[in-house]
Amino acid sequence: MDERLKYAPCGYVSITHEGIVTDVNQTFLDLMGYAAEELLHKHLESIMSTANKLIFHSYFYPQINLNGRVEELFISLKDKQKQTVPFILNGRRFEDDGVEVIDCVLVQMKKRIDYEQELRTAKKQIEDAYRQKEQALAKLEQIHKEIERKQSELMEMNAMLVELSVTDKLTGLKNRRYFQEKLDEQLHRYHESGQAFSLVIIDIDHFKQVNDTWGHQMGDEVLEKLAKTLTIHARSEDTAARLGGEEFVLILPHTDAAQSSKIAERLRIAVIETVWPIGSITVSSGIATVNPDDSGASLLKKADEALYASKENGRNRVTHIEDVKR
Ligand code: GH3
Ligand code: MG
Ligand code: MG
Repeated sequence: MDERLKYAPCGYVSITHEGIVTDVNQTFLDLMGYAAEELLHKHLESIMSTANKLIFHSYFYPQINLNGRVEELFISLKDKQKQTVPFILNGRRFEDDGVEVIDCVLVQMKKRIDYEQELRTAKKQIEDAYRQKEQALAKLEQIHKEIERKQSELMEMNAMLVELSVTDKLTGLKNRRYFQEKLDEQLHRYHESGQAFSLVIIDIDHFKQVNDTWGHQMGDEVLEKLAKTLTIHARSEDTAARLGGEEFVLILPHTDAAQSSKIAERLRIAVIETVWPIGSITVSSGIATVNPDDSGASLLKKADEALYASKENGRNRVTHIEDVKR
């Protein structure tokens, strides 16, 4: 064999049409660890696994027979240590003095497979990193949602606290604080646009006796029931609140002296007609309608004076401050 072919930078094997090795170069022998006599006159299939023999029979021979050549056939051969060595094989049929031989050039694939392995590993690492990123993002989103949920809980709680801070615990009506705010609001509106309003203070008559006779708890029930009666009779724009003790108050927007007296009177009748667990209950009311020189305190004082007049005149009655001789 030509010296250069002997040490060519690829394996060279020549086989007969039956697959018997007739020539092999040194490069291939060195690569596979065989001595020349171990391969010469042996069947090339002797260094193939069954799977590779099948490939050889189903692809190599048909291609040679059909086209006289085979290109880039991927095939694994076993070296002296029985280790699998992958090759890319190009083969060509050749006639030498009427004898058919097939020249095969074998280029080892190891490096390329290593690269592919590295590529696969890198790809897997990227995929893992991507998955981790996705998981982290999903977690972040979950945390985000949790924060949003907590925030809305906090807002709800805040709204509840605000509501609690303006609500009378026993009756569920608005408390004195809220009433003061509303009164200031109404006064402001009155001074801005002249929109009149009235204030009614309602006080249960002889309530101390209710407590003394029936007990404090029954007294509480009466307060609760009166609060309900007030709520039912109040219009949507009115403010009903508990001033404290057995005293309640109504702010009646757009309501003059006559109208407010009617409303308070209706309420007084409603209280009488209500079925109470302790027999009958009556209330006295005092009303004041806003004047240009009124402040919140003066208005409240006038309504209180009117209430005092109701009490003085026998209770269970409605008095407007304008009807009180001062
Ligand atoms: P008047 O007709 O003059 O208004 O007499 P009154 O007994 O209703 O008025 P007084 O101011 O003498 O008594 C009010 C009573 O209301 C005294 C107090 O024990 C009672 N009271 C105040 N707050 C509450 C409460 O939250 N629950 C109960 N059950 N009683 C209360
Ligand atoms: Mg009272
Ligand atoms: Mg009172």
